[in-house]
Amino acid sequence: MLLVTGGAGYIGSHLVLGLLDQGREVLVLDNLSRGHRELTGKAVFEEADIRDLSQIRRILKKYPVDGVLHFAALSLVGDSMSDPQSYYRNNIGGTMNIITSMLEAGIDRIVFSSSAAVYGEPRALPVNEEAPKVPTNPYGETKLFIESMLGRSFDAYGIRSVSLRYFNAAGADPLARTGEDHSPETHLVPIALDAVLGRVEELKVFGNDYPTHDGTCVRDYVHVTDLADAHIRALEGLEKGAFGCEAFNLGNGKGFSVLEIVSAVRSVTGRGFPLRFAPRRPGDPAVLVASSAKAEKELRWKRRFKDMDEIIETAWKWHQKRFRVGRRS
Ligand code: UDP
Repeated sequence: MLLVTGGAGYIGSHLVLGLLDQGREVLVLDNLSRGHRELTGKAVFEEADIRDLSQIRRILKKYPVDGVLHFAALSLVGDSMSDPQSYYRNNIGGTMNIITSMLEAGIDRIVFSSSAAVYGEPRALPVNEEAPKVPTNPYGETKLFIESMLGRSFDAYGIRSVSLRYFNAAGADPLARTGEDHSPETHLVPIALDAVLGRVEELKVFGNDYPTHDGTCVRDYVHVTDLADAHIRALEGLEKGAFGCEAFNLGNGKGFSVLEIVSAVRSVTGRGFPLRFAPRRPGDPAVLVASSAKAEKELRWKRRFKDMDEIIETAWKWHQKRFRVGRRS
């Protein structure tokens, strides 16, 4: 059985459905602070908080878990600046509890949700795994520290791990069984779709004076189902005995500016929506684009969704199903 912490969240729920589709037994542990239980399909569900060691211990005693996929975390850059303590307690303290419980239960493999935020403002593009790691906010610092914890846990206890550094996750399950549903929503694509549906008045574009071709930030958007697939490949590698402590970037290798995303959303939905230029958001680097060559080679990771319109189509299908007025506000 596989334990997925944070399995009711955006990326976690896509992985849970992917594992269930493979016929695997899945146990989801989530405190439902941001996640949605109904998005975890037929997985076994335990409502618990990774900050509470006794709860994790109890769950790992109750179920025959042989591998962990660890998504549970706080993940908003802005919040991490205003309340870093919560990030240390949840992300670092929570992962210490997971590792402690894994050791007690004799579990020796874990796939960890890391982030492009470990790199901070990149000096060279595309960013590969060897790039300097200088996070510019507490969120990125917690992810980097956890990667170090995992490295030490391999050396000291033989826990094998793969850390996956996501760039910008986007899109939704192609069957629209799950997708993005944050409250409040802070991410670009769902906010643009909210503006299309009239759930928000407008999209604020954070900064149009960046040194990019149109002045707006450039990001590497990668489909969430492709991210889920990379986790399954990492897990299968660990199950075959590969990897001691590894990290891989996961991106699409192509940058899109905020305005290019806006125009893709307009073209996919066939509708316009109001937007307004607003000041830069603190902590946003101008450009982040990944090299995922290592994952392509060592995980044999092949992305299914390369085209931005296709990525946004899946998000749009989900968004309409979940939020169209009259169904759920
Ligand atoms: N962004 C924006 N308006 C919004 C939300 C995001 O202009 O309402 C920009 C943001 O500045 C960044 C990009 O969209 O350049 C992606 O931001 P998001 O929050 O989706 O992901 P992040 O890069 O923070 O992981």
